[in-house]
Order: sequence, then C-alpha cells, then structure tokens
Amino acid sequence: MFNSLSDRLTATFKNLRGRGRLSEADIDATVREIRRALLDADVAVPVVREFAAAVRERALGVEVSGALNPAQQVVKIVNEELVEILGGATRTLQLAKVPPTVIMLAGLQGAGKTTLAGKLAHALKQQGHTPVLVAADLQRPNAVTQLSVVAERAGVPVFAPHPGNQGAETDAVIGDPVGVARDGVAYAREKQHDVVIVDTAGRLGVDAVLMQQASDIRSAISPDEVLFVIDAMIGQDAVNTATAFLEGVDFTGVVLSKLDGDARGGAALSVAKVTGRPIMFASTGEKLTDFEVFHPDRMAGRILD
Ligand code: GDP
Repeated sequence: MFNSLSDRLTATFKNLRGRGRLSEADIDATVREIRRALLDADVAVPVVREFAAAVRERALGVEVSGALNPAQQVVKIVNEELVEILGGATRTLQLAKVPPTVIMLAGLQGAGKTTLAGKLAHALKQQGHTPVLVAADLQRPNAVTQLSVVAERAGVPVFAPHPGNQGAETDAVIGDPVGVARDGVAYAREKQHDVVIVDTAGRLGVDAVLMQQASDIRSAISPDEVLFVIDAMIGQDAVNTATAFLEGVDFTGVVLSKLDGDARGGAALSVAKVTGRPIMFASTGEKLTDFEVFHPDRMAGRILD
C-alpha cells in the first residue's frame, strides 16, 4: 500500500546522507519533498501541513553531536511524527467489566464491516472468548445471510431476525434494526456470551437516515466500543466520511480495511489524526485470518523501511 510513499521518502533521505550539518535551506528542501510525497499519497491537506511544520521545527533544532548523523536524525523525527499521526500507542479493545462487551460496527456499505465481524469474532474466539454476532444490517436483503455465512466460517453463533439461523429468536420485526440490536445484546447476556458484535447498515455514501439509525442503535445498546470501518482505498474521501461518522454516530476506534490493496494509503495516514480516534485493527484480505491489531510504530516503520 505504501510502496510509492516509501520510495519517495527513502529517496529524499538519501539526499541528506553524508552531510555534516543541515542548513535551513536543506531542511526546507527536505520538508518540501516530504510534503509532496504525502500529498501524492492522498494524505489529507491539514494533516500534511501540520506534519510538515512539526518535522521542520524539530529538524531545525537538531544538534550535530550525538550518535546519529543529521540525516538519521531527520529520519528519526519523521518516524516519530508518523507514529504520532497514526495515533501514538497501540490501543486494544476495551472489555466491559461486566460481560457482555458490546461492540458495534459502523461504516459505509462495502467498507468491510461484515467481513470484519467474522474476523474479529474469529480472533476473539481464539483468545477464549465466546462471541455472538448480531445482524442489525437490515438494509441490504443479503446482509443477514452474508453475516450468517461469516459467522459459520468463524464458528460463532449469529443472532438475526430471520428464521433458520442459530439462536435467532427476536420479537423485533424485520424492519427494526434497533430492536434487533437490543434483543441481540439481551440474548448475549442471557446465553452468557462474553462479547457481542453488532453489524449495522451502511450506504454507499453518507446518508442522514442511516446515520440516525446507527445513532439510535448506539443509544439503545450503549456499546463499549464503536468501531468505524473504513476502506483504506477511498483516498481523499476518507476524511469527509470519517468526520461524518464521528459527528453522526461517534466512534471509539477505527478499523482500516483493504490495507492489502494498492491504493496510496492516504486514508490510513489521515483518519486517526483528523478524528482523534485510534486505528485499532487492520483488515488485509478476504480470509478470516487477514486481520491484525494495528501498531502505529510498526506501520511507520514499514513506511520508512
Ligand atoms: P460491508 O458492506 O461493510 O459489510 O462490507 P463487506 O464486509 O461485505 O465487504 C465488501 C467487500 O470487500 C467484500 O467483497 C469483501 O470480501 C471485501 N473485503 C472486505 N475486507 C477486505 C480486505 O481487508 N481486503 C480485501 N481485499 N477485500 C476485503
């Protein structure tokens, strides 16, 4: 995903090698290159501006003495600033003191929510948890079936408003996603599942009615975590979409999906900074196991590799 950005940054740093001391002009030229590389990678303009200013200021203050030469020090600064815009420390799931931990998924249609539900359930199950999936995406005719398939693959039960699914017993009518979500959480509590993952509907674009629905679901189930799933390939739209979900539903963490794609990666580098919410997981493919905890430092390391 970050190949092009990575190459550009490496080339920029190469120009600094062997210098005893960096002049202000050297630093400005370097920062200009970094800024261009980030903009070309689709990183949001305000994020780039802040990033470039922080790198410039710190690079100007670099002392010649010390174990690292000036070029290495600039790389170190860029690395630290990358970790910073990616959210700083790794953040893991907040589990409820009294189970079940309620996790709600939100995001645009096609973002990868349903796929993520399966991956998350699978990972939690492997850690000894007993997750159940709740199908509160009643917008797409196929969504409930798709979640059931995902649940079966992950080896976890699904709670859905359709007959024929394991554990599907709800009074909520098919068109009542808030009711399904609420009943799903009650079901998890009653059956002593310690984690409940609620999948919700999304549209192709940000949509007021669905945003209200997601917000209503949130109010009804008081989730411990609301994970906003975003397709890392959506480029500059990432910021508007993330901001709309932040205002419309609010979320506690971000999941970047499709990080295996060959997009330029700007979404990944913008979302945490713009929303102030940590990126918690990365989805890297269609398989159940293509899923990892997101580590800002490792991602920064990968970019600067
Ligand atoms: P939802 O509408 O948000 O529930 O999105 P889905 O989970 O149905 O995903 C939409 C499409 O993207 C499906 O074809 C998934 O197989 C695919 N998909 C989801 N996550 C990833 C990922 O991390 N990498 C790739 N390559 N494809 C993904």
